[in-house]
Amino acid sequence: MGLRLYNTMSQTVEELRPLEPGRVRMYTCGPTVHDRAHIGNFRTYLAEDLLRRHLEARGLKVHQVMNITDVDDKIIAKAAAAGKSLSDFTAPYVSAFFSDLQLLSIQPAQELPRATEYLGPMVALVQRLVDSGHAYQSDGSVYFRVSSFPGYGKLTHLEAAGLRAGASGRVDADEYEVKEAVGDFAVWKGAPEGGPAAWPSPFGRGRPGWHLECSAMAMELLGPSFDIHCGGVDNKFPHHENEIAQCESVTGLPLAQLWFHVEHLLAAGGKMAKSLGNFVTLDQLLERGHSPLAIRYHLLSNTHYRQKLHFREEDLVGAAQSLERLATFWRRCSAPSPAGLGPGGSGDPLVAAAQRARDRFEAALDDDLNLPKAVGSLHELMREGNRFLDQGRAGSGGCVAAIATLRAADSRLAVVERAAVGEEPELSPEERGLLERREEARRQGHFSKADRLRDELLERGLVVEDTKEGTRWRRL
Ligand SMILES: [Zn+2]
Repeated sequence: MGLRLYNTMSQTVEELRPLEPGRVRMYTCGPTVHDRAHIGNFRTYLAEDLLRRHLEARGLKVHQVMNITDVDDKIIAKAAAAGKSLSDFTAPYVSAFFSDLQLLSIQPAQELPRATEYLGPMVALVQRLVDSGHAYQSDGSVYFRVSSFPGYGKLTHLEAAGLRAGASGRVDADEYEVKEAVGDFAVWKGAPEGGPAAWPSPFGRGRPGWHLECSAMAMELLGPSFDIHCGGVDNKFPHHENEIAQCESVTGLPLAQLWFHVEHLLAAGGKMAKSLGNFVTLDQLLERGHSPLAIRYHLLSNTHYRQKLHFREEDLVGAAQSLERLATFWRRCSAPSPAGLGPGGSGDPLVAAAQRARDRFEAALDDDLNLPKAVGSLHELMREGNRFLDQGRAGSGGCVAAIATLRAADSRLAVVERAAVGEEPELSPEERGLLERREEARRQGHFSKADRLRDELLERGLVVEDTKEGTRWRRL
């Protein structure tokens, strides 16, 4: 059985069949950089990271593109209010985004196009739409003529009439009079003479519409038809529906073979959203002492990506404990006490248990990325393994097999080994200072001082262990 994924377009779980054998081209809608992304946004990027890691673990070569939207109405307004250029205004949010990705071990896409650097392909796509009669100029802007594309609405399975009557909150009332139909949307927004953030074009000065940006960058970097298009469920309509209309009306090809959508993260009051004020950012959680590993582990493995996840901060504590149990098992298997080991060989029950867990882990991920179920098989291995080790029945071969299973799983999870060996990317300057003072005290033989510093670190939630390979640390 191959890898099966839910396709929003067909509304079924399908076997993935890459257009080019062995290669997957995938587009992921990225951030609009006018603010910090919140962890609801990162739930989507984490699920997309899991998808990419699983494709790679299955031996596929993945070419991933994620756009950075660095121009839109909000950015223009906020930059103007701050008296900054677009690039000066967006730069800190772009770097915060990349640093959050790194903290959460999300692999950055190979290509991260910025909208403002792809004006050429965007203008060319608008021109193609106008030339083919799918778009029209009106009052300095260019609009997509929804009635010209019979497939409009096919992704969201909504009645086209319902869409046109303004099912979307994004229908812009100001644009009413200048459009042929209320559902028509801007592919090029005219800017007043001398207005900020505008580019010249055959249709007058202006800027591309957000939907058009993704269409143009996706086709420029991945071709007119590629394998997987990803995003959060709130991108389905109108954003992805509009992307499909703009691309398919001129190419006649399906933009993507499979549409992958990640459900909302809920918080008090509903979906976590900037507009509701119920959001929390990664740096807020880190300030309150949560580890990025526990956050990644919780957001990925607590709930399947196609189900809503209700975020409660206290659940991160349980997630950290669950992860620590796996990490402890990892440490136990990587350095088992020789006296307690069984004879090993073909009768080693841990060898069989490790193989069983590995098979179940892979099968669960192949079934539409069911990570909660996959992680369940790791916990079962841990319980069995601990019992076999307690009973002196597991041999060194079993320990090696258990580590191999955990390591294979960690190519997707990316948390267990680091939780086990204590290599987290961040230490605060004070923590680093305390660790260095403790090292210095040990070198000079001041062991009681070193012990005091160790206690001080422990109070901050940092466990320090002295091993043959040197001093290691990990978070509680
Ligand atoms: Zn997009």
